Amino acid sequence: MKLVERKRNPACGAYEILQFMQNSGKKILMDIYSDLKDSISKDLQRCVEFHGHLCPGLVYGYLVAKEAADLLDLHRSHDEEVVAIAENDSCAVDGLQVILGTTAGKGNLKIENYGKNAYTILSRSHKKGYRFSRTEFYNYKGEKKEKFDKLDKAISDGTASNKEKQTHKMLKTKDLLSRPFDEVFSTHEIDFFMPPYAPLARSEACAKCGEMTMSTKMVSGKDGALLCIPCSKSESRVNS
Ligand SMILES: [Zn+2]
Ligand SMILES: [Zn+2]
Repeated sequence: MKLVERKRNPACGAYEILQFMQNSGKKILMDIYSDLKDSISKDLQRCVEFHGHLCPGLVYGYLVAKEAADLLDLHRSHDEEVVAIAENDSCAVDGLQVILGTTAGKGNLKIENYGKNAYTILSRSHKKGYRFSRTEFYNYKGEKKEKFDKLDKAISDGTASNKEKQTHKMLKTKDLLSRPFDEVFSTHEIDFFMPPYAPLARSEACAKCGEMTMSTKMVSGKDGALLCIPCSKSESRVNS
């Protein structure tokens, strides 16, 4: 069980995020910002505020979003002027949502889950796009190499405690933030293509459940009546 609490610190305006983790009936207090909160950017703090915790995945998304914003001269997308295609559905996606405004709700975030730490960011106005991907194994290069390797081994052996897993994540987070971007991601400009805008369609009532459903998402039932997808599935189950 995770409980995340936020407190605004009026002196520095930063958020202190305290994470409590339940472990063997005891609550271990994990101040995940303890050595990072003063060194991370306001933008990354906003990502943490949205995502709920600081982790390496979120940092991957944040780094890609910042780099894309620089390369394409982007501001946070209010409509669909920026489009992101993420090739995973990990924590990284939240970094893109916060920094680039490519959000699940606006339709300018597409998840094509190939399980890759790869992202394509397109700008409609500049008619340009870049793909960012990782082509090397992660290799810790920070100051606490010995400690990291020990924790890494405990995790792969399955013997790491929750606290050790969190420490491992924090070491990796800090290391990723200290690297030049090109060490973390390969960047390639792609041939621009104009992604389709989020579809708009009128709603119809499903012939079976009566719920209003986007007409383009409906299917014809056996007597030609328009059905929502769940109802069409239960109908085909009944018939088979
Ligand atoms: Zn995360
Ligand atoms: Zn229905």
